[in-house]
Amino acid sequence: MQKIKLKSFAQAKTNTKKSSVLFFSRKQISNLEKFQRIDSFKSYIPIGNNQSYGRISIPNNDGFGIKLSSSKENNLKIDFENNRINVPADLNIFNVQKYLISHQLHFPVVPGAMKATIGGCIAADVHGKNGHKYGSFGDHVEKIELYSFQHNKILTITKKDDLFYQTIGGFGVTGIIISATLNVIKIHSNFFYCSEFPVSSPKELIKLLIENENECDDIGAWFSISNKMFYGKVYAAKWGDCFESSKEPSFFISIVKYMIFTFFKPMLVKLLFHHLLVYLIYRKTIISKKINVMNLMFPLKYNQGWEKFYGCSFVERQFLVPINQSIDFFNQIVHLMAKHNIYTLLSGVKLFRGNRLGLMSFANEGISFSIQYSTKNSKFDHELNKLLVLNGFPEYLAKIQEVSSNFPFGYKNFNTWFNLATENKINSKLLKWLGVLTR
Ligand SMILES: Cc1cc2nc3c(=O)[nH]c(=O)nc-3n(C[C@H](O)[C@H](O)[C@H](O)COP(=O)(O)OP(=O)(O)OC[C@H]3O[C@@H](n4cnc5c(N)ncnc54)[C@H](O)[C@@H]3O)c2cc1C
Repeated sequence: MQKIKLKSFAQAKTNTKKSSVLFFSRKQISNLEKFQRIDSFKSYIPIGNNQSYGRISIPNNDGFGIKLSSSKENNLKIDFENNRINVPADLNIFNVQKYLISHQLHFPVVPGAMKATIGGCIAADVHGKNGHKYGSFGDHVEKIELYSFQHNKILTITKKDDLFYQTIGGFGVTGIIISATLNVIKIHSNFFYCSEFPVSSPKELIKLLIENENECDDIGAWFSISNKMFYGKVYAAKWGDCFESSKEPSFFISIVKYMIFTFFKPMLVKLLFHHLLVYLIYRKTIISKKINVMNLMFPLKYNQGWEKFYGCSFVERQFLVPINQSIDFFNQIVHLMAKHNIYTLLSGVKLFRGNRLGLMSFANEGISFSIQYSTKNSKFDHELNKLLVLNGFPEYLAKIQEVSSNFPFGYKNFNTWFNLATENKINSKLLKWLGVLTR
């Protein structure tokens, strides 16, 4: 057993106590049964690469993280006839997507987190910027190989099994995903045509998203509040029509960006750079600029260190609001942010269509808001929590923080999920905190 320092992505520099992590190879995973019988092996949580912003994959000090030890990409096999791929769950999404693209295929849905594992993407039922067309990651899973905590053995589960839908969006409570068979899509180009349109109000932003969804393969929006003013930008992208060699963005510019975020004190960044950054990001209309597919799907690859903008630690929260309430709610959030002087740079807005069956997935269609701010704004936190609880809007579990969150009233399956977690002795910092709340 190994003790390593684990921290959630948003806790950039806060001190976390060492957590115990057990590494299992795919072959060794059946030994888990023996471990489960040992009394000291009380409770655990499967972990991927700890890319969740919250603490859903951080074990408590009396528990263990269970992690698959590394598989290799070179063993991947594509089923070209059925457009499917079987992938070990510990591989990261960036590497598998890169491999697929080299075969003119791609995953329909990918999150912006390059290091997220396939297991983490299924368990958190992650979303991309094409939820209006392709739903979430779980909608494209055919088969899962799972070490079931309940059955103490490895099972292969498919769409006809309840356990399948409890594992998608189940946040690790049913067992350890060992591998999965996933549907992939053929591509006819390696770039997108991207346009960006500045907007000056929440209403305009939502209207533009909805008016353009049918014509776009990817669509989303960002907003910021600076000097109590709203800045927004809708981004819309369509697949290109051929394959082209692409230029990597300038290494020099990436280094400069990294240095700005890393070496300047957050207060200084806030005071001197926030307005400048907002001006640079939100001012321009861009029409049909070509962007390579990998750069579009993983924009943070060339913006390393961006999270330092928020200082020592920050909160990223995401919640889903029904479309007919989204403009009102958006206005309320913007008003709250302005009132509390919130510095947010690239808070995101996405559109979801269709329904999903995963246990704690965003089940219905709606507009999701992902907002980021420094943890110091506890008054804003408190008021936002009140609003979310009052309206019963679900908040994404991968982004719920221990200290500053809304209890997930919005999920109809919350009790089933929580009971499964308790029965299967799941022990994460987030679950402990939810347990205290439900008592
Ligand atoms: C920079 C950044 C950008 C992001 N962008 C997006 C985005 O665009 N869309 C989005 O939806 N999310 C996004 N996220 C969140 C991230 O994609 C999810 O939290 C994802 O689950 C992280 O994967 P992971 O492998 O690191 O899992 P972890 O964070 O380690 O775990 C997440 C959950 O999955 C469970 N889990 C992990 N591996 C397994 C397994 N093998 N078997 C069973 N359960 C398992 C854990 O128990 C936990 O509940 C982003 C995160 C970051 C840091």
